[in-house]
Amino acid sequence: MGKKEIVLTVLILLALLAGVLVGQFVLHAGGEAAAGSIEVFTKLGDLLFIRPLRMLVVPIVFIGVTVGVAGIGRADKLGLLGGTTIAYYLLTMAASITVGLALVGVFKPGAGADLASLEENAKSAFENSVESRIEDRPETFTDVVFQLGESLVSDNPIRSAAEGDTLPLVTLAILLGLALVLIREKGEAAIAFFQSLFEALIRLVLWIIWLAIPGIFFIVAARVGQVGFEGFAGPLAKFSMVVVVGLLIHSVITLPTVLAVFGRINPFVFMWQMRKPLLTAFGTSSSAATLPITIEEAVQSGGCSRRAANFVLPVGATINMDGTALYIAVVVSFLFELYGFELTLIQYAIILFTATLTAVGAAAVPSASLVLMAIVIGAVNNTLPALEDGETQLLPLHAIGIILGVDRLLDMCRTAVNVWGDSVGAKLLTRLAPDEDAASRS
Ligand code: ASP
Repeated sequence: MGKKEIVLTVLILLALLAGVLVGQFVLHAGGEAAAGSIEVFTKLGDLLFIRPLRMLVVPIVFIGVTVGVAGIGRADKLGLLGGTTIAYYLLTMAASITVGLALVGVFKPGAGADLASLEENAKSAFENSVESRIEDRPETFTDVVFQLGESLVSDNPIRSAAEGDTLPLVTLAILLGLALVLIREKGEAAIAFFQSLFEALIRLVLWIIWLAIPGIFFIVAARVGQVGFEGFAGPLAKFSMVVVVGLLIHSVITLPTVLAVFGRINPFVFMWQMRKPLLTAFGTSSSAATLPITIEEAVQSGGCSRRAANFVLPVGATINMDGTALYIAVVVSFLFELYGFELTLIQYAIILFTATLTAVGAAAVPSASLVLMAIVIGAVNNTLPALEDGETQLLPLHAIGIILGVDRLLDMCRTAVNVWGDSVGAKLLTRLAPDEDAASRS
């Protein structure tokens, strides 16, 4: 590791630590008086780091996927890679949910908690920050599936790009990459053009990484300043612990085992190599904004093939969310428990299934899962039996408000796990799509 690398890593870690300390002891302790400073910090973090990263997301996804697919070069190989990638996404998300549900079963974070005190502010918190966002969201599970299908194919790729919607751009890029290979010599000039453009974009990412130092400081300080750590000490402590322990088990046991067994790779060396995207995800709570750094580091430091990284990471950033899937499942089962419902095995299976699909549908931006949680709650509510008087007692949606206080900080943790899951996928699939046999063409 070069000297520059060490300096950058140490500075990012220091920025993170300073952000937490300033957030808790200056901004949060400042109460109302610090509200203005929190706003300025949020804006500075956005301007210095999130915006420059977001600026690169659309070009890097479109050009990267085109280059990656053109490198793979054959539809059957691409089909195999695509199929294996999707299977990896779904299986690891199901594994992380299972860990989360098992932990809820063991620790029972909702049992015995004082519902009345927790519910006190939940309703207004829910109405203020989640309800309006739920309105234009899909309501039923069928809606989610349709919306997912529609989000794969855009009727206007320029509009999708303008809205930062990357999934339809991935579809277009896959098709374009394949077509470029199929037209043989005529496609070579365009492939070479995209390849050199991609190299330049990677260089831009290398510059922007340095902005992580001030960026992460401001974003983390503002976030911690807004909510503080009190939430973790109160009645939600046990719930937060279950989420964090679940995320830890998934990231230091489950995924590393998969990587060691199927990839024959030392997972912790790879985790260290991917530290910059992981810290960035933690700092920004957005896998989409982190994506340029994930792609660059996976190839430059992590030893992933360009073909695998360029394909698996952009698709994974929107689809593969292990941390989010676990989080949604834990929140929903915690809330049902808190309200005194005893769920059956079938209902847990429904949570497993719907939480996987809602995590797939969640946008890779801060607090995306909050909005989609309502769908999983709705799916379980639908299975609740009617009482003797014919009425069915349901879990009210405003229950989501209960976890709002700790959501922002847990978002940081689950986003890092989301990015870690994508990175492990890219490393594993490098075995299926190595770069070497493309050397003749590129
Ligand atoms: N913030 C998460 C991400 O960007 C999504 C979520 O769970 O809210 O990956």
